[in-house]
Amino acid sequence: MNQYRPETLAIRLQNERTQENEHSVPLYLTSSFVFDDAEHMRAAFSDEVEANIYSRYSNPNVDELLAKVAALEGGEAAWATATGMAAVFTTFAALLKSGDHIVSSRSVFGSTHQLFLNILPKWGITTTYVDADDYEGYLNAIQENTKILYLETPSNPALEIIDLEKIGKVVAEKGIKLVVDNCFATPVIQQPLKFGAHISIHSATKYMDGQGRVLGGLIVSDAETILQIQGFARHSGPAMSPFNAWVLSKSLETLHLRMEKHCTQALAIAERLENHPSVAWVKYPFLPSHPQVEIAKKQMRRGGGIVTFEVKGGLEAGRRFLDALNLFSLTPNLGDSRSIATHPASTTHSKLKPEERLAVGISDGLVRLSIGLEHLEDIWEDLDQALKSIG
Ligand SMILES: *Cc1c(COP(=O)(O)O)cnc(C)c1O
Repeated sequence: MNQYRPETLAIRLQNERTQENEHSVPLYLTSSFVFDDAEHMRAAFSDEVEANIYSRYSNPNVDELLAKVAALEGGEAAWATATGMAAVFTTFAALLKSGDHIVSSRSVFGSTHQLFLNILPKWGITTTYVDADDYEGYLNAIQENTKILYLETPSNPALEIIDLEKIGKVVAEKGIKLVVDNCFATPVIQQPLKFGAHISIHSATKYMDGQGRVLGGLIVSDAETILQIQGFARHSGPAMSPFNAWVLSKSLETLHLRMEKHCTQALAIAERLENHPSVAWVKYPFLPSHPQVEIAKKQMRRGGGIVTFEVKGGLEAGRRFLDALNLFSLTPNLGDSRSIATHPASTTHSKLKPEERLAVGISDGLVRLSIGLEHLEDIWEDLDQALKSIG
């Protein structure tokens, strides 16, 4: 099977058929599995034979998803969790102990900030933030007890790009693990493990599902690291449900197709917004005006499906713009077939002070668009009429 290309593996890597000879893989909604006899049960529990025991440990639908995601990311193995945040927390909880230290880019997802600031310190794990593109800063922040360098690229919502190859060299020199939240890019566009990252994490809730139906998290790494993560997760219980794994495995069959269109449409929208008189600035990784476009083109195949821009007139204009949209959904999700608009300054990042928001690239008028799969002209006409309506 592994001679095939990723597009084929995302479709064809699947569980063996049951005696029903089904074409599409069935859903294994079962919490546990039965054994032939007492000896079979003993051997399964002592890892002498491979067998499913209990769905907190393993499940055929989850295993199929793991095989696909590991192949797509170019990793040896993978683990699945109930949500993206469970994947982030599981990674830290499995690999770190009291007294350990993390160096992280300042530009990370809101709940990841909460882990660093309020939750991990309860167990004596501390974090030092570095500005996303301060490479010297990462080096200087690494201490004797630093075990993980953590980052997101492209970052949410400012779309900052961090040079993975450069950071990969830093961690190799220092002997620490590089963990990358690859949620915005997906493995179709970016494979962090190829640039020296040890672990790639996903909120499968976003592009992997792509239709706003299920929550899920994925961790991809080398076999030894995944064994360590599995050891923690099997006993602490952040397992992905078989149903969600089944949905996600089907979703991956169209991931390449969807990402192609998300990226094509997002680039077209970014170019049009850049020429719109009501727009102050636009940020998109593959626009020539993006400050890190060269790095983006080195490590990403396409620019992704997210566009951020600022409406002239600041916070109030930004809010009026959102109210004038008809087609776009106002919802905190992203990576959906439906186009979505959000205003981070008044929602996800409203708890930060304005200067803290600016430090991670979020101005008051910044609008984040997740460009969907609707017809490009319908998406554009909605944006254009909303921009015109705010003058
Ligand atoms: C949504 C998101 C997460 C968290 O994922 P959930 O599935 O919502 O728990 C983590 N990182 C990034 C970049 C995200 O966008």
